[in-house]
Amino acid sequence: RLKGYGKKGPHACHSGHVHVIGAGVMGGDIAAWCALKGLTVTLQDQDRGRIAAAQGRASALFARKKRDPREARAAADRLLPDPKGDGIRRADLVIEAITEDADIKRRLYAQIEPLLKPGAILATNTSSLSLETLRAGLQAPQRLIGLHFFNPVARMPLVEVVETAEMDPGVKAAAYAFVGQIDKLPLPVQSTPGFLVNAVLAPYMLEAMRCVDEGIKPETIDAAMLAFGMPMGPIELIDTVGLDIARDAGRQLSGAASMPACLETRLARKQLGRKSGQGFYPWK
Ligand code: NAD
Repeated sequence: RLKGYGKKGPHACHSGHVHVIGAGVMGGDIAAWCALKGLTVTLQDQDRGRIAAAQGRASALFARKKRDPREARAAADRLLPDPKGDGIRRADLVIEAITEDADIKRRLYAQIEPLLKPGAILATNTSSLSLETLRAGLQAPQRLIGLHFFNPVARMPLVEVVETAEMDPGVKAAAYAFVGQIDKLPLPVQSTPGFLVNAVLAPYMLEAMRCVDEGIKPETIDAAMLAFGMPMGPIELIDTVGLDIARDAGRQLSGAASMPACLETRLARKQLGRKSGQGFYPWK
C-alpha cells in the first residue's frame, strides 16, 4: 500500500498523495482512476482546458463505478485541479504523462526534481522512450521508474513496471505496492523498445492496416478478430489508441520507412480516432 508503505526505507510514502502531470488522454484518466481508488490526486497541465475535460470524464467514471452518489462526490473531491503544480511538493508519487518527447520530458524533470519531497518517486508513463534516455540529467536518476498504463485506463488491468538494473529497490517495491493499491496488475518489463505489450501489438496493428490497404473492410477485420476471441478488433484498437500514436509506435517498433496508406490518408485529414471524433470509424 502506498499509504504508510516502506516506512523503514528511504522511500517511505505517508500520505497516499499522487501528483499527475499531463491531463491528456492518459494522465487525466490515470488521475481519475487513482482518485476512484481512494488516493488524493493533484492534476497538473499547462492547458487548463485539458484539466477541466479530464474532470468531466472523471465525474462520468465515478458515477458509473460508485453506486452511492456520496461516494462518487467523495472521489471527485479527491481529484484536485492543480494547474501550477503546487501538489508536486506534497506528493509521494509523481506520474508524468506529458507529450512523448524526450527533451520536453527531461526539461520538466529538471524543473520539478528540486521540488520533490525526500523519498518521493518519479514515474513516467512513456510508451516508447527508454528510462536511460529520460533519466539523464536527474540528480537522483535511481528514483525514476516507468509505470506504463494502457488506454483506456479504466478498462485495462495491466500496468507495465519498467525496471532497470540501477534502479533503487525501494522505488521498485513502492511502485509495485502502488499498482496493487489501485487494483491493477503489475507486469515487470525491461526498458526495451515497446516494453512487452506494444512490442507484440505494433506488428499486429500494422498488419491489420495493411489488410485495409489491400481492400479488406475495417469492419471485416475487426469482426474476424472478435470471433477469434480478442476483446476488441485491431482497427477499433487503433482508433482508441489514436492514429498519431499508432503511427509513432509503428515507425519506432517496426523500423519500416513507410506506414500503411490508409493510416497516412486519415492522418493528413486530422482523423486521429476516438479523440478527434473520426478515425477508421466515426465516434461522434
Ligand atoms: P496527450 O497529448 O493526450 O496529453 C499530453 C498532455 O500533456 C497535454 O494535455 C499537454 O497540454 C500536456 N503537457 C505537455 N507538456 C507539458 C508540460 N511541460 N507541463 C504540463 N503539461 C504538459 O498525450 P497522451 O496520449 O495522454 O500521452 C501522454 C503520455 O502517455 C506519453 O508519454 C505517451 O507515450 C503515453 N501513453 C499514451 C498512450 C495512449 O494510448 N495515448 C498509452 C500509454 C502511454
